[in-house]
Amino acid sequence: MRLDGSLAEGVDPVSAMGDGAVQAAWQRVKRRLRAELGEDVFASWFARLELQDVEGGIARLTVPTRFLKSWIESHYLDRVLATFRSEADGIEGIAVGVRGASAPPRPAAPKAAAAPRPVPAMSAPALPEGGEAERGPRHAHPPASGEAGDLGGAPLDARLTFESFVVGRSNALAHAAAERVARTDGGPALYNPLYFHAGVGLGKTHLLHAIGHAVKMAGRRVTYLTADRFMYGFVNALKTQNALAFKERLRAIDLLILDDVQFIQGRSIQAEFGHTLNALIDAGRQVVVASDRPPAELESLDERVRSRLAGGLVVEIGTLDETLRAQILLSRLEAVRAAHPSFEVGPAVAEYVAKAITANGRDLEGAVNRLLAHATLTGAPVTLDTAETAIRDLVKNREPKRVKIEDIQKLVASRYNVSRSDILSERRTAAVVKPRQIAMYLSKVLTLRSLPEIGRRFGGRDHTTVLHAVRKIEKAIGEDTALCDEVELLKRMLQD
Ligand code: ADP
Ligand code: MG
Repeated sequence: MRLDGSLAEGVDPVSAMGDGAVQAAWQRVKRRLRAELGEDVFASWFARLELQDVEGGIARLTVPTRFLKSWIESHYLDRVLATFRSEADGIEGIAVGVRGASAPPRPAAPKAAAAPRPVPAMSAPALPEGGEAERGPRHAHPPASGEAGDLGGAPLDARLTFESFVVGRSNALAHAAAERVARTDGGPALYNPLYFHAGVGLGKTHLLHAIGHAVKMAGRRVTYLTADRFMYGFVNALKTQNALAFKERLRAIDLLILDDVQFIQGRSIQAEFGHTLNALIDAGRQVVVASDRPPAELESLDERVRSRLAGGLVVEIGTLDETLRAQILLSRLEAVRAAHPSFEVGPAVAEYVAKAITANGRDLEGAVNRLLAHATLTGAPVTLDTAETAIRDLVKNREPKRVKIEDIQKLVASRYNVSRSDILSERRTAAVVKPRQIAMYLSKVLTLRSLPEIGRRFGGRDHTTVLHAVRKIEKAIGEDTALCDEVELLKRMLQD
């Protein structure tokens, strides 16, 4: 992150604040947006919004996709600007750009964040940060074919096939269901929709693409859409008053694959999503969906749409155990070796990497890319030492985020002078209920556990109880700054 003071003539109060202070202000902005808009809205639109720098009073923000950019610009620009202004002096405008895109962003939407000066072109950041960086090489591969069509469908990634998918205990059911659906030959759909859910990097997208390839090979029409693309295509279609044609085209396909449906938001789009789903399923067309949560937790969707999504087969993919990680790693290494024959990684190194990278398949892929970069840049063989250095940040970066529910319960209990067993108990006195709800809220916000799982860890409660607690605390935080600070403090204590 840089603040290019050299470009700012005269006194620039923001530059004068310094890089750290601006970033701190930005973190406060994000916290406020989260508290004010609620966890779901925040996670959908702002979690990946980053401050690149501030120049000439213009805060340059970045997101990973074009869609997020246009959505934030059309819905939240005023709000982000107002919040940022109240947290930092000298912010006059906001420009949103796409990380890793070489094109400069358009100036901020005129009505919203009208900047008094022209918005400077945003230079492409050196590297998109975090796990996203690892996706680069995948996109470098040629797409299998151009079935993108005019629905804004995305091409399938040639590497993500059933052949390259490693089956283990945590994904066996999902894999079996995927194969069944891929093998059906135009007869009535078996499980409709087939719905996968799992945390990030556990193979959802891989399975979706594998199904897509197999069904295409059988000569049937496949459309693969991410939620972004569904909404983008749809929004555009609406703008050009072409919605009917869009829907007709959607309905003229054999298999619709929808990835990351948790991002589908907006009333009219949700309604359209529901219609599309009904039309396809009623016509016996197969629909396959992936999300980071089960259908019941897609809170932004209408109840009927949720139950339609839950009405087929819902399969969770679990975390990758060490054996599975090692196998995925080995198959990845082998694939890379096909293109780089001199790239050698010994069994000890592979074992170390599979042990060290516990988070998900995306990080494993990242680790392989780093080892390869290291080997090709230095020309030296990959030793345990070099491997450790190459993947250090992948190991470290993930560490602070892994908060345990048990730790949350212990900390909250001690903070409110109750015992952990009080929190897990049936007792309903106010002295126990509030810390219990805060602990549930923190479990939802700080861990990747689903609501039912959190319920189980809180003395076998129902997921609706957890949901109620989360909503209640979210609301209370928005209204009560003392509580907001208190919860922030607890979060920081847990994450340090
Ligand atoms: P998700 O969509 O669930 O976030 P992806 O399907 O993008 O996850 O998987 C992340 C990375 O891990 C991809 O490179 C994918 O190929 C790899 N991966 C995940 N699970 C498996 C598996 N069972 N076998 C092989 N590769 C896997
Ligand atoms: Mg995915």
